[in-house]
Amino acid sequence: MEIVIIGAGVVGLATAWRAAARGAAVTLVDPEPASGASAVAAGMLTPVSELAYGEEPLLHLGLASRDRYGAFVAELEELTGLDTGYRADGILQVAFDGDDLAYLDEVRRFQESLGVPAETLTGRESRRLEPMLAPGVRGGLLAPQDGSIDPRRLTPALLAAGEKLGVRLVRRRAASVIVERDTAAGVRLEDGTEIRADQVLLAAGPWSGDIGGVPEGVVPPVRPVKGQVLRLRSRVPFLTRCTRGLVRGSPIYLVPRADGELVVGATQEELGFDIRVTAGGLWELLRDARELLPGITELEFAEVSAGLRPGSPDNAPVMGASALPGLVLGTGHFRNGILLTPVSADILASVLLDGEVPEVGRPFTPQRFEVRA
Ligand code: FAD
Repeated sequence: MEIVIIGAGVVGLATAWRAAARGAAVTLVDPEPASGASAVAAGMLTPVSELAYGEEPLLHLGLASRDRYGAFVAELEELTGLDTGYRADGILQVAFDGDDLAYLDEVRRFQESLGVPAETLTGRESRRLEPMLAPGVRGGLLAPQDGSIDPRRLTPALLAAGEKLGVRLVRRRAASVIVERDTAAGVRLEDGTEIRADQVLLAAGPWSGDIGGVPEGVVPPVRPVKGQVLRLRSRVPFLTRCTRGLVRGSPIYLVPRADGELVVGATQEELGFDIRVTAGGLWELLRDARELLPGITELEFAEVSAGLRPGSPDNAPVMGASALPGLVLGTGHFRNGILLTPVSADILASVLLDGEVPEVGRPFTPQRFEVRA
């Protein structure tokens, strides 16, 4: 089985590894591997605390992926000898004022109604867990099984794992999908070179809608949703675990790494393919982070960046065979692509190699949009 994958973000990289491990000959096409959202993402692994009303189907996918993470990372780290910064030490969500606390209580009730436990904490208990929290923090929720990973360590490990199993990396832009007799037959690069394959996986994040040759009605309904993040640094970790907060209704999160990096995110902006960092975006992040954790002003500034989440109409991924035989879609992972990496790779490898969508992936096939169309 020959497979060509357009896009080497977390989705393309992890699927390449999984498919190669099952014996497929895989070619990955990307002019700049892991340069999209996967390079900017904070790496929270949180199906529970990220949950929003109306996104219940995503919960099961997210839980399935979170539960696969430990084994996925252990296999990846053993194969490559590279550390991914994975940790499963819980995520704390805290409320800054009384209104934020009322909202957090709603969140707790919603999570309970879905059967996902979160531990309720007072302000004092929250500060006992995270002593740097502001004295006024009113209360919290602890999702003990959530965690985080460093996407900037995960992607090199996935690249190395693929390389070990013979995945070929072509550092060029894919211009179009080759279509012959109404079937996808490979990929044409921007210089005209053709790469023939039995199956094509389109996993180019928010750019997945811009590849030529894909018939109208098959083009995945993805759009870019901008997010700005800030990276600070301290000699010792400033927080012990990933901490999310609501500050006067405004959400903020801080993700610590073992090496002292602290990722502060993120804005959510509908501005098309715009990755400019703005003064306003930065100000919002710093304003809310400082309210929650006044000590962050002492930390060293390291970096600011912006990335594009591949958003879909229902905020859930689009994974499975498309209406064009030979073309599989793997995109639309929006806010959860890092969390969903292990389960997405398993689903997409199964679609590519067995022609079957595993049970857990059935609510997320492209057909849900084709039917509506
Ligand atoms: P991408 O990572 O965007 O990769 C797409 C790849 O396609 C790129 O490498 C690009 O070069 C390539 N490409 C584009 N066009 C072409 C072409 N024509 N030919 C060949 N290659 C092409 N998720 C979480 O689970 N937890 C988080 O905490 C989290 N935080 C986030 C914070 C921010 C600010 C952002 C922006 C995202 C965050 N996400 C998070 C979401 C997550 O990053 C994405 O869902 C995920 O990275 C999507 O992966 P992808 O492989 O689909 O796309």
